[in-house]
Amino acid sequence: MGTGQLTIDLDAIAANWTALDALSGSGTETGAVVKANGYGLGAGRVARALAHAGARRFFVAQAEEGSAIRNALGRGPEIYVFSGHMRGDTDMLGDLELIPMLNSIDQLTRHLEALPQSPFGIQLDTGMNRLGMEPGEWTAVRDVAVPRKPRLIMSHLASADEPESPQNKAQVQLFRELTSGCGIPRSLGATGGILLGADYHFELTRPGIGLYGGLPFRDARQAVQLDLPVIQTGVVLKGESVGYNATWQAPVDTPTATVGAGYADGILRGLSGKLSLWADGVECPVLGRVSMDLVVADISGLSHEPRVLSLLCPEQGIDAVAAAADTIGYEILTALGPRYARRYSGRAG
Ligand SMILES: *Cc1c(COP(=O)(O)O)cnc(C)c1O
Repeated sequence: MGTGQLTIDLDAIAANWTALDALSGSGTETGAVVKANGYGLGAGRVARALAHAGARRFFVAQAEEGSAIRNALGRGPEIYVFSGHMRGDTDMLGDLELIPMLNSIDQLTRHLEALPQSPFGIQLDTGMNRLGMEPGEWTAVRDVAVPRKPRLIMSHLASADEPESPQNKAQVQLFRELTSGCGIPRSLGATGGILLGADYHFELTRPGIGLYGGLPFRDARQAVQLDLPVIQTGVVLKGESVGYNATWQAPVDTPTATVGAGYADGILRGLSGKLSLWADGVECPVLGRVSMDLVVADISGLSHEPRVLSLLCPEQGIDAVAAAADTIGYEILTALGPRYARRYSGRAG
């Protein structure tokens, strides 16, 4: 098989949910964010594992994503859509009982006209300036919206992964002011907000990345292993080069292995020269440029010819790869391409 194998540990994902649920505190429910195909890991399987662990409220970015989750979970669990009620979404929202998080007066009007009996939530902008009603808009419609009993009022923190940022306190204070006395369940914290402590938990938390093993949840269990098949081995002689534009030259004769994955599979080309693959706990530095479908690694540390080299493994998690690429674990996960064979391990789901 020429494709890499991505093994997703559903028990680890379920355990991460349980741990974040415990950190959210006893008076707070813990939801689960499964947007972008469950952060690249397969929305249906991941959602079922999380439901098995106890999650009852799920969040996606777009109504179409909600449809995949509804198919996987059936009726019962609540599915919230961050982008709200967009033009063209009405049938899907109504038929699949998805709950739009309304982001503007326009969306509120559209929803109340098109689906007056259907549930909705409200998203408020408390400082991120990305999505949600501005405080002035909310003040104008609060007396229309609150009597219709929104299922949830939420906002999102911009700097939750920086506990010292004064923006966190400013946002939580504004959120309290905008929602005090409304009697509606509230949600502010995602993974980072859970870790900021009880002031940020309200009635519901919405973790995403921590479920999938990423920072800022340091105690997360790794949820993915990525093994790449060795297609060919060889020896690059002293003075020869590897890959496009000959960016690496062999200082000594170097045994190499070429594996079948590249930037088309989410191994960012910017990782050229900064990444290692692993076999049996031994580091195998990547040589030269990452190609579309191929990567070459130095296997001089190995005593045998490997069958596979691992990109994600106990020695190297998503955040280590992210640091090498000067990005975040979220991007590494969601960039994992469609060519990998996805295998699920664990009881959950
Ligand atoms: C993605 C997202 C989340 C989940 O955030 P994590 O940092 O992955 O825990 C929660 N809320 C909103 C609005 C989001 O866009």
